[in-house]
Order: sequence, then C-alpha cells, then structure tokens
Amino acid sequence: MQAVEVLQKYFGYPSFRPGQEAVIETILSGRDCLAIMPTGAGKSLCFQIPALLLQGLTLVISPLISLMKDQVDALTAQHIPAVYINSQCTLADLKYRLGAIRSGRVRLVYVSPERLQNEFFTNFMQTLPVAQVVVDEAHCVSQWGHDFRPGYGMIKAWVDKLPERPIISAFTATATEKVKTDMLALLGLDKPRIFRGSFDRPNLYFRVVKSQDKLRFVISYLQNHPRESGIIYVATRKEAERVYAEVKSRGYAAGRYHAGLEDEERKRMQEDFSYDRISVMVATNAFGMGIDKSNVRFVIHYQIPGNLESYYQEAGRAGRDGAPSECILLFHRQDVMIQRYLIEQGRYTPEKEKKELYNLQRMVQYGESHGCLRHAILDYFGENVSWQRCERCGNCQEETVEEDRTPELRNICLC
Ligand code: ADP
Ligand code: MG
Repeated sequence: MQAVEVLQKYFGYPSFRPGQEAVIETILSGRDCLAIMPTGAGKSLCFQIPALLLQGLTLVISPLISLMKDQVDALTAQHIPAVYINSQCTLADLKYRLGAIRSGRVRLVYVSPERLQNEFFTNFMQTLPVAQVVVDEAHCVSQWGHDFRPGYGMIKAWVDKLPERPIISAFTATATEKVKTDMLALLGLDKPRIFRGSFDRPNLYFRVVKSQDKLRFVISYLQNHPRESGIIYVATRKEAERVYAEVKSRGYAAGRYHAGLEDEERKRMQEDFSYDRISVMVATNAFGMGIDKSNVRFVIHYQIPGNLESYYQEAGRAGRDGAPSECILLFHRQDVMIQRYLIEQGRYTPEKEKKELYNLQRMVQYGESHGCLRHAILDYFGENVSWQRCERCGNCQEETVEEDRTPELRNICLC
C-alpha cells in the first residue's frame, strides 16, 4: 500500500499537508530524520503512517501521559492497533498490552523516556523486531529548550542496545539552532535528513506595547474588541487572580486558569472557553498543551514570558483558523525581574540557569526591539528570510511610542 492510500483509508484525509510526504518517504527509505515543523503542522501522521507500512514495531517516546493517551485514543478510533505503557497502567493492563505487543498485532507502542530505564521493559523490547523509534517532542533532550527532560538523554544508549538498529525519527516544533545542535548530537541520529517547515504565521499581527498602565490598555482593548475570544497571559497566579478580578468586575465574560485552582475548576474554565461561554481567559502558562481552539482572536501577554519559544507558542494560540489575529506583548522592564526571580528560584544547575538567563535576555531584546518583530522571531528560530521588514507588525507599521522610560532599569544585567 502507498502512503497516500494509508492516509485516505486509515486517517480519512484526502491529501498530505506540506512536508508530510517527504518525511514519510524518508522514513520508509530507511533513513533517520529530524523534522522541525510548527505546532499543528501534522507531525504525528509523519511517523504513524510509516508505522503501518514498515515491517516491525514502532516505539514512540513521548513526554506526557496526556499526549500519549490522546494519540492512542485517536489511533484506536481509526482502528489502528496502538497501546501506551505508563505508570498509570494496572498490572492487568500491562499484562494484556504486553501480550498484544508480543502477538504482533500492535503497530505502535507509546512510552515515556523513563520507561526505558525499566529493565523488564528493555529486555522485553529486545526480543521484538523494532523497526522505528520515534522521538516526539525531541527538543526535550536539550537544556536549551524550555521542556528539558533528563530521560531523553538515555534514548541513544537504549537504542544502541537493541539487537538491530531501528530507524530513528525525531519531531519537534522548537527550531532554535542551539536546540537543533543538541538534538543531532544527543539522540544519536545517523546521517539524518533534516526537514524544516516555515514557522511564519502570516495571519498573526505582532505588537509590543510599552505601557505603564497595562490594565487600562487591556480594558480599552476589550472595549474595542467586543465578544472576541482571547487569552491574557500573566506571569504568576497572584497576577492572574488580580487581572481576572479587574476584567470581570467590568462586566466581561472572563475566566481564569492557573495551577493553583482545583482540577475541576480548571476543566470547567477550559470548557467554557472552548464553547465560547466565556470570551476572555486570564491565565498563567499552565493554560497550554491541548488547547485547540481555532477562533482565538488575540493573545495579550501582560508580562513577558521567560523566553521567545514560550512566547511564540503561547502567542501562536491565536488565529489557528487562519483569520487575522493579534499577538500583543505589554512590555515593562520591571517585569524582567519577575522572570529573573522565577529562574533563580528554579533550582537549576548553574549551567542551566545561565542558559535560562540567556533565553530571557533574548526575550527582552524582542520587547525592546525597534526592528520588524516577525523578522526577530523567525531569525530566533533560525529561519533565513530574504526580507528585513514584514510591513505587517507593530514595529513595521506604527511609530514606536516610548511611554515608559525608566532609566535605572535600562541596563539590567542578566549575566
Ligand atoms: P503537530 O504534532 O505537528 O502539532 P498533529 O500531528 O497533532 O500536529 O496534527 C494536528 C492536526 O492536524 C490533527 O488534528 C491532525 O489530525 C490534523 N492533520 C494532520 N495531517 C493532516 C492532513 N494531511 N490533512 C488534514 N488534517 C491533518
Ligand atoms: Mg505533536
């Protein structure tokens, strides 16, 4: 069967999205690959289709139980035999799943990187024909990324112990050069083909607003954008509560979301937002993975996040439907201190702390930039663009108004 037939028969899509077919062909030809494609590009299909066509098993390494579960549920719904094995499985689950794997019925097995340390599991896998090892969210191997997971560092040695070397395919939406270098070095990819989709999101309008009175800005923005769906990201839970109360007291249908709330309230808030029962969500970065709402018209960052990767990922929740949407950063130099504090409290190794501070510095440069914002973002992600100005961002279109001059904070040293 051809890849496109699998796409249509099993997944019900008429055609590939840009980039998918080339990645699939590479894997099917037996070559390792690293695919750097933005969130929502459709990376999962790039390893799931080969999993159905290759002789042997595909092992998918994934960082989150919720991601594993979502993918396995979706595959099962398409009648593709897939299982996950994690710490939440009961002994009975485990027995059943291992039996299904051994029988050869299962095509994809999802595990966390930590499972590779389990001797029983390792011995078990060594008796099976593993055709492909997929490293999903591969940036987790790098200390330069924002989701570093030590367990990812063990993948290479684990693969080396398999009786036959499988194809390794790695996937991520993180595209900085430093992370890419780490992924290539640490995952043990063998002469991989590297794919890189464009990270440009033409329908997003980026702006940096340097305002002392951020609340006033937000309220007047909401007034001018009635009933539009949007997210306001803040740096701390306390700030989430404060901004939420202010917005709500002015009569807006607002919700809040942060890690300090009960699971039940978080779930309800997320649903209310998804179904447009509330239009504005005031949230910390806990509001993230798994939000797939298409009509978010604006994302306002009330404080700068810790790095440009997080910023672009959070801002990128706007405009998934392709319609024009705004991504506004309210930049105040004092807020840099909050992020700096969070890093210092983060119990990082000195080396990791230095990296975090460097990433924060790049974020601050974005906030202070007078150049094209889209160019700054794409440049950060290592994308070579032929133009200097997009003419579709705040800095390209507006005169920069520096309301906020705090000379004593101008030279914050982050090193
Ligand atoms: P990523 O991992 O790159 O963020 P996913 O693999 O989760 O993206 O895919 C995002 C969405 O796109 C999913 O709902 C998926 O079913 C859909 N999708 C993927 N490929 C195609 C395609 N060729 N045609 C239509 N929809 C697709
Ligand atoms: Mg994915």
